[in-house]
Amino acid sequence: MIRRPKPDLQSDQCRSSDPRVLRVLSLSVKRAKYGERQGLVKYEEDRRIRRVVIVGGGSAGWMTAAALARSLQTGCVITLIESDEIGTIGVGEGTIPRIKGFNEFLGLDENEFVKRTRGTFKLGVQFVDWARLGSRYFHPFGKFGRPFDTVEPHQFWYRADLKGEVTSLDDYCMGWAAAHRGRFAPPSTNTRHVLSTYEYAYHFDASLYGAYLREYSETRGVIRVEGKVVQVNQDGLSGFVESVQLKDGRVVDGDLFIDCSGFRALLIGKTLETPFEAWTQWLPCDRAMAVPCAAGELTPYTRSTARAAGWQWRIPLQHRTGNGYVYSSAHISDEEAARVLLANLDGEALDDPRPLRFTSGCRKQLWAKNVVAIGLASGFVEPLESTAIHLVYAGLSKLLAFFPDKDFNPLGMNEFNRSSVEQFERIRDFLILHYRLTERDDSALWRDCARMDIPDTLRERIEHFRSYGRYIVRESDIFGPASWIAVNIGQFNRPERLDPVIDFRTTDGSQWLGKVRAAMAAAAEGLPTHRAYIDRFCKSEAVGIAQRTIEVAPGNIH
Ligand SMILES: Cc1cc2nc3c(=O)[nH]c(=O)nc-3n(C[C@H](O)[C@H](O)[C@H](O)COP(=O)(O)OP(=O)(O)OC[C@H]3O[C@@H](n4cnc5c(N)ncnc54)[C@H](O)[C@@H]3O)c2cc1C
Repeated sequence: MIRRPKPDLQSDQCRSSDPRVLRVLSLSVKRAKYGERQGLVKYEEDRRIRRVVIVGGGSAGWMTAAALARSLQTGCVITLIESDEIGTIGVGEGTIPRIKGFNEFLGLDENEFVKRTRGTFKLGVQFVDWARLGSRYFHPFGKFGRPFDTVEPHQFWYRADLKGEVTSLDDYCMGWAAAHRGRFAPPSTNTRHVLSTYEYAYHFDASLYGAYLREYSETRGVIRVEGKVVQVNQDGLSGFVESVQLKDGRVVDGDLFIDCSGFRALLIGKTLETPFEAWTQWLPCDRAMAVPCAAGELTPYTRSTARAAGWQWRIPLQHRTGNGYVYSSAHISDEEAARVLLANLDGEALDDPRPLRFTSGCRKQLWAKNVVAIGLASGFVEPLESTAIHLVYAGLSKLLAFFPDKDFNPLGMNEFNRSSVEQFERIRDFLILHYRLTERDDSALWRDCARMDIPDTLRERIEHFRSYGRYIVRESDIFGPASWIAVNIGQFNRPERLDPVIDFRTTDGSQWLGKVRAAMAAAAEGLPTHRAYIDRFCKSEAVGIAQRTIEVAPGNIH
């Protein structure tokens, strides 16, 4: 790895004979002078980014390639470098509903996408043994109840619960009504119907999603280069990345580099050395064992079961079930984790458990100089709520919103970094909520979690819920009201008092809740089974994914 001085481009000390650096400096001076006179910046020449280089071909790399190919329709060469020798992380099967927006942006047909990735539908996550041994609750995508008053349904539910007039909160949620009956169909667009109150996401094989997007990207002109990056070449003064060199000697030049190299963080971390903030004091799990098993019940939801030293996921795909034990290495050995995982599968293991290591945390700067990190290179919060793939397209939509020209105005970069870090922190807080609200004291991990100090941003939100059952919505939250209500109620952070407004209302909440529950149960019975829906619309033919490569003159490879 090359190490060179990294001078501040804005500094008076910055002197270079490099025409690119000189142009940046002289443009800044011209713009400042012009701006002083006019309050405007004159656009003097074509400063478009002409060559984008994506380093890494995991889900993040190919999602980036696809999004850029879709947006930068002409005038820009997009090259993706991936290494067969290194491979991809090969996990990442759960998603949250916003992935639908990303697929729509690309113009993917839903049924084709599910078929190609051997996917299934996900209405939420069932949490087992998280609050107490034997407890269960559902974190739905969508809403609880159906609004019937200005005061929210969960307040009425809690009032009725205190009087013993209702059943579990889950029973007033359309997502769960369908999920536990194993039923699925897309929601109704009639907002007056209970069938409009849920949302859904997907479970899929992430490597097939990558292959699908590879085909999409190559068809739109993205150049794929197979090879291992062994050296990163930077400009001597600015520190901007100019090119990457492959093991076989080829060099790939670029104007903008997207670091999708996974946990290696080859450009943003190893080269530019942007700091990484670890959150292991709050999210103690740092390893996982993953193993597929023979396909079992096709539940339209993920199951997360708390175990002594972490938790286990169960994600059904069309052709197999994905399983993994996410655990704290301080609380269990790898061998024991593998044993616990294998002892808790629904079907025959199809492979040996595969160990993975990670640290929950995020880079303070996800965009530095002309490098933008997307995917695991930018950070990772453990997979409890399946948010990593979401963070890929959230990063891409921010990148497109602040897409640079060759001047790399820091305004866009700063906003990208601020909002990205904030989004990571909001997800982090939501995940910590699950650990902090445990009442388990049967193992060291859960005892530690129940006592741990938490970020102030989260403490305040927990107190709001405990006081009056209120949830607080913050900018950059990706988890909305139903998510906070589900985890707080499901993990017994029950409000001490009700929203005072409820005492002014004349609505008979118990009666309404009864009607909503009955309407949901009836509606769920009318839905097709999850398997029937898949068989009808998006059954995988389980054929290999054809890889098409088109001939494109590789202008930036030499
Ligand atoms: C245990 C676990 C469970 C997870 N579960 C979920 C989930 O349910 N849902 C979810 O959304 N996400 C999940 N994730 C995260 C998800 O797997 C990743 O976010 C996603 O796959 C994107 O990964 P990536 O492309 O950033 O990295 P990778 O898949 O690791 O890809 C990195 C790429 O960089 C290339 N590369 C690296 N170094 C070089 C080099 N020197 N030269 C050339 N190429 C190089 C590699 O070959 C590879 O192509 C999980 C992660 C873990 C660890």
